[in-house]
Amino acid sequence: MFWGLPFFMGPSILILLPALALAIYAQYKVRSTYSRYSQVQTANGTSASQTAKRILEGAGVSDVAVEGTRRKLSDHYDPRGKVLRLSDPKSVSVAAVGVAAHEAGHAIQHARGYKPLVLRTAIVPLANFGSQLALPLFFVGLIFRYQMLVTVGIFAFSLAVLFTLVTLPVEFDASRRAVVALRSSLLVNEEELGAVKEVLFAAALTYVAAAAMAALQLLMLLSVNRRR
Ligand SMILES: [Zn+2]
Repeated sequence: MFWGLPFFMGPSILILLPALALAIYAQYKVRSTYSRYSQVQTANGTSASQTAKRILEGAGVSDVAVEGTRRKLSDHYDPRGKVLRLSDPKSVSVAAVGVAAHEAGHAIQHARGYKPLVLRTAIVPLANFGSQLALPLFFVGLIFRYQMLVTVGIFAFSLAVLFTLVTLPVEFDASRRAVVALRSSLLVNEEELGAVKEVLFAAALTYVAAAAMAALQLLMLLSVNRRR
């Protein structure tokens, strides 16, 4: 959501390079790891949707529906509808089972009122608003030399950065819950659990890259503002 940056920002744009490299690496890593482990079936043979249901049951969460969704790698938990959507619900692959367990982790966070998730959900509208308005305000302010707009633009962008940062504990915690639940329910063996961890680590890396990108973009805006 932050990619539409014009190139007239001069050398400040170089600030973004490390985050860009990390983002590209994370994308590659998540795709390659997922595709490798979507070829490997679990010995237990429980499907992704069954896995999610078993984990939710085990956690005493009974009001969450598990559905399929068509888009690939678009697995998610929708807290408003209390629906867990899996892109590959029937799959018995290590990758699909791992992702299903992670999404169940989000549903459990929701049921338990896990603070970072509550905060994240609360700032979604602000962050969306901020990320849409920030750059137009910033650049209009720069062009017309109206510092107030530049400052408001930077503040709005900070909200979007905050969102990407709050997302990190939410994602790491969902993966932690997934691993604990998979291990204790014996849905996967230790070797498969290692593969699940690899898949979830790669996915977490994309969130780290997004947060780094957002934070460095904020730095870039501050640096452009200061150079003027
Ligand atoms: Zn997640």
